Amino acid sequence: MSDGRWFEETLHDDVRLTFRATEVLAEQAGDHQHLALFKNVTFGDVLMLDGVTQVTTGDEFVYHEMMAHVPLFAHGKAREVLIIGGGDGGLAREVLRHRAIERVTLVELDADVIGFAERHLGSIHRGTFDDPRLEVVIADGSVFAAQTERWFDAVLVDSTDPIGPGEVLFQEPFYRDVARILKPGGVVVTQNGVPFLQPGELKAGLGNLRRALPEATAYIIAVPTYFGGHMTLGYAGTPAPAPERATLTERFAAAGIGTRYYTPAVHQAAFALPAFIAELVDAA
Ligand code: SAM
Repeated sequence: MSDGRWFEETLHDDVRLTFRATEVLAEQAGDHQHLALFKNVTFGDVLMLDGVTQVTTGDEFVYHEMMAHVPLFAHGKAREVLIIGGGDGGLAREVLRHRAIERVTLVELDADVIGFAERHLGSIHRGTFDDPRLEVVIADGSVFAAQTERWFDAVLVDSTDPIGPGEVLFQEPFYRDVARILKPGGVVVTQNGVPFLQPGELKAGLGNLRRALPEATAYIIAVPTYFGGHMTLGYAGTPAPAPERATLTERFAAAGIGTRYYTPAVHQAAFALPAFIAELVDAA
């Protein structure tokens, strides 16, 4: 048995992942959620909210690259992006690497997550909170979407799982508001969990998204932290999910963005769904 305190992720009823913390960097009971940040030899710095792993410095690139670059390269002309959640700043970082982006509005419920990230997660946000194109709003994303009069080219829902404050972000009224604030030609991406372990999160969440945006589908990514096989991200809106390879290659080259997971080939392949995931998507 190795030394150190063990942090158990309590997300799933029947199977749990436990991390050995070589150092606890910070722990606080915030107004909305319990936050814990610790060091792990394999994953680097690990952020847990209410016992659920949110982000690790070791593999965050997978999730953030695929949540930003797939919709933005599919769209090709996005200028205004809305991020709901995403208080660690990793997704905003990837979005802002697209030089054509003029403004990113990040609506995070929990100010503690942002403060925490600013203090402790510099290797994730990498100065993003100082970018003048980023506007941070502390609010419930569902309330913001219901009330804003602005329109967006891309709405990226970088949420927690559908328990606690994140639950509203998987429901039909929220998606109807998202559809309302989407510019013509706009695109939406959501996080829909690991379908082998959470089939309902994909089926119910995508079903609700589809009732607001009928063409909704999903794509797959492999994030070691979110164990249990593929993770799915929902995709909806006007741009074809996976444009021609030549188009993606041209846009990717023009952007000059170096990546560790995203490539035009991976972009296209991500929409090839294993049969058991395709069944859930079709049934949604
Ligand atoms: N970026 C992470 C990753 O790499 O997987 C994803 C998790 S991100 C930290 C999720 C954020 O969603 C949390 O900071 C949480 O506070 C926020 N959140 C949950 N419910 C929300 C809501 N209703 N409105 C806005 N933000 C919400």
